[in-house]
Formats: sequence, structure tokens, C-alpha cells
Amino acid sequence: MLARRDHSGARYVKPAASTLLTLTFIGTRGEIELRSRQHRRHSSLLVQRGPARIMIDCGADWLGRLKRIAPTVIVLTHAHSDHAAGLAAGAPCAVYATTETWNSIRRFPISKRLRLPLRKSVMIDGVRFKAIPVEHSIRAPAVGYRVSAQGSHFFYLPDVARLPNASAVLRGIDVYIGDGATIKRPMLRKRDGALIGHASIVAQLEWCKQAAVRRAIFTHCGTPVVRGDARKLNDTLWRLGRKRGVEARFACDGDRLSLPEGQRAQRTKKHA
Ligand SMILES: [Zn+2]
Ligand SMILES: [Zn+2]
Repeated sequence: MLARRDHSGARYVKPAASTLLTLTFIGTRGEIELRSRQHRRHSSLLVQRGPARIMIDCGADWLGRLKRIAPTVIVLTHAHSDHAAGLAAGAPCAVYATTETWNSIRRFPISKRLRLPLRKSVMIDGVRFKAIPVEHSIRAPAVGYRVSAQGSHFFYLPDVARLPNASAVLRGIDVYIGDGATIKRPMLRKRDGALIGHASIVAQLEWCKQAAVRRAIFTHCGTPVVRGDARKLNDTLWRLGRKRGVEARFACDGDRLSLPEGQRAQRTKKHA
């Protein structure tokens, strides 16, 4: 297979002709001080279908770096700086966000602002997005996205404390892409009856099990993951997933995945 570098800087393996969606984890770091070669930039996923380059989330690490990514559209999950502050100087394309997120970033000089309704499918550059509200923050209400194209479905949820109706929401998903802030110990607080912070990976694997989702990839990595030994961490994650019938691993910056699921992930960077 041909390999070259694309605009994101990630090594590019030419997808098979039947590939509908190519997902590139251009960033996998959470809102932490630490960074590493494998988790260098704030969590962001580049979804490609034909000429479309849909960037999900654009945190502070992406400020001044959008030219290389060349997104055709940007979609935001919420307004926290590790997801939206890369747009503080504007955007080179249209940006989709919920009304609540737009309220938080109204000062950003973005000219093409599009509002995403909650729980309704919207076609964005040939790919279907459905915003599902989740508990994570009071000040920056977050959504996860159920993303679909011709029978392939994945769910992108980089920040979550609780996913209401998880089994119904995740039903039929090929790949769950979740919050890697913490493996076993939840980072949760309760405020005004709602949970804020981050659910553990173990809790998210339980949601996958309940919804019969067979594959999970964790991005938005927290300090223990960024600092830890990648091989050991992936072994631990694999075991935690296997107990629940889920094939699970961490994402690294530059990792690429092709959907539909019949095609194996094309790993472009190896864990240490
Ligand atoms: Zn975050
Ligand atoms: Zn957040």
C-alpha cells in the first residue's frame, strides 16, 4: 500500500476502495499539563469521506495549526479550551456547535456559525451527525456524536461523566471512541444533581457491554496514560475490555482507522 504524509502530518496509508470513512486521531491528549510524543495535542478526530475533512474538536493545541489540517468543516463537542480554544483566532471553514457551546465562544471571530440541534440527525459534508447531550460540565455542556455513513456507525465522546440511556444511545455502534482521562477511578463530582468530570474507562466499557458494542478506542488521555508505559497500559485495557466482550485500546496521535469495520485498523504509529 502507498504511504505518504497528508495535511495532518500523519503517515497516510491509502485506504481500500470500499472504505467509507477514514478516521485519524490527530490529537489524543486531555486537559492536562503533560504531553508526550504519542499524546502531543488536544483530542481531535479528523473524519474523511471523499473530499470531506471533518475535524471534530479544536482545542488550544490547534491554534495556528489549522492550515495544515485543512478541514472542510469543524464540529465541536463542547466549549472547554481543550476542545474549542483553537478557534480563538477564527476558523478557515464553517463551524458546527450546539447553542450552548456557541454561547460560550461567542467572542471568537468565526464567520460561518452553524447550530446543531440536539438528538436530531444532520448531514455534514456527506456524513450524518447526531448530537447526544451528556453529563460532563455545567458551564460547558457537552455532547457526544453518533456519526454514520452508509451503514457504518461510530460514537465520539471524548469527555463524559455520565451518558444517559447508554445502552439505547450506543446500540448498533461499530466503534465507541471514549474518554481516556482515567482508567479505574472515576473523576466525578456532583453539582446541582448532575455529574461533572470524567467517568472511568471501566464504566464506559460497561456501557459498551450493555449495548453489545464490540470495539472501543480511548482518546483524551489523562496523566496516568500519557506518563505510563504504553504497552502495559494497553495490556491492562485489553484485559478490562475482554472481560466485557469489548476489544479496547488507547489511541495515539496519528493513529488511523478505516470503516466499515471489516477492514482492520491501519495503525500508522506503534506504541513504544
Ligand atoms: Zn476535554
Ligand atoms: Zn471538557
